[in-house]
Amino acid sequence: MECKPKLWQPIPFFYILSLVITNNEKADAGVMEENMSLLEVKNLKKIYTTRLGSNQVQALSNVNFSVEEGEYVAIMGESGSGKTTLLNILASLDKPTSGEILLNGKSTVTIKEKELSAFRRANLGFVFQDFNLLDTFSLKDNIFLPLVLAGMKYEEMEKKLAPIALKLGIDDIMTKYPYEVSGGQKQRAAVARALITTPKLILADEPTGALDSKSTEQLLELFTKINNEGQTILMVTHSVKAASSAKRVLFIKDGEVFHQIYRASMKDEEMYQKISNTLTVLATGGEQVE
Ligand code: ADP
Ligand code: MG
Repeated sequence: MECKPKLWQPIPFFYILSLVITNNEKADAGVMEENMSLLEVKNLKKIYTTRLGSNQVQALSNVNFSVEEGEYVAIMGESGSGKTTLLNILASLDKPTSGEILLNGKSTVTIKEKELSAFRRANLGFVFQDFNLLDTFSLKDNIFLPLVLAGMKYEEMEKKLAPIALKLGIDDIMTKYPYEVSGGQKQRAAVARALITTPKLILADEPTGALDSKSTEQLLELFTKINNEGQTILMVTHSVKAASSAKRVLFIKDGEVFHQIYRASMKDEEMYQKISNTLTVLATGGEQVE
């Protein structure tokens, strides 16, 4: 599936801009204390107010959860339930109305603007639904972008790229441009760009949303593989298939975490069934989830 370049992509644009704005590499990237969750979300609330202030939309009413280092968590919920809002706030691309987010023990809500981009680069990697690769850059230059912004030397960037490109199976297409490769290859390049800074947490918003079933399968295998190697992943998805590859699934409804499922020893198929059942209960407005 080919994506036409869009003229205006607000969040990614602000994301890239925010990486550029400050270049304070020495900023404190947050030191992890023992027994601390990698991510803690407390009483998170987001109310959007329209420009004239006449209309308010409560996207998140009271979200609470935490993610431990090494977890692979999927977040599900119906369209409009606040998944993207939550992810954008976690990515500090948007501010909550109230509540707290601790990433690696440090509040991303109160962090100073000048520390934010370095903090984000050190801690977070993003994978967007529609890849968000720059069409005028080769795949390699797209992947290098966060390192270029961090002022890394070219030889060092090459050294970092080699094992990642190999693992992702895109080492032979690095000089190609996004419009020359398939959707699945573009998404793998986008994953490489998220991994190249060795972030503490990967945030993915509907990463399989623009992929065909084969590429979806490959991407999910890849996520499982990088998670098994220790990378923490938080993925928003409405695909039951994608969610059933995670180790834990959180369901949001009416702006709150409504339920969660732990994989424990469940196989993918069992997990799939359990997630489907929960979504049915969510959609029919049931109170009980067994
Ligand atoms: P999801 O990703 O689960 O589909 P969103 O987070 O995109 O949900 O949206 C949650 C709610 O907030 C929806 O009612 C949506 O219309 C509203 N919303 C999202 N972004 C904005 C915005 N920038 N301004 C006003 N309302 C918004
Ligand atoms: Mg969304």
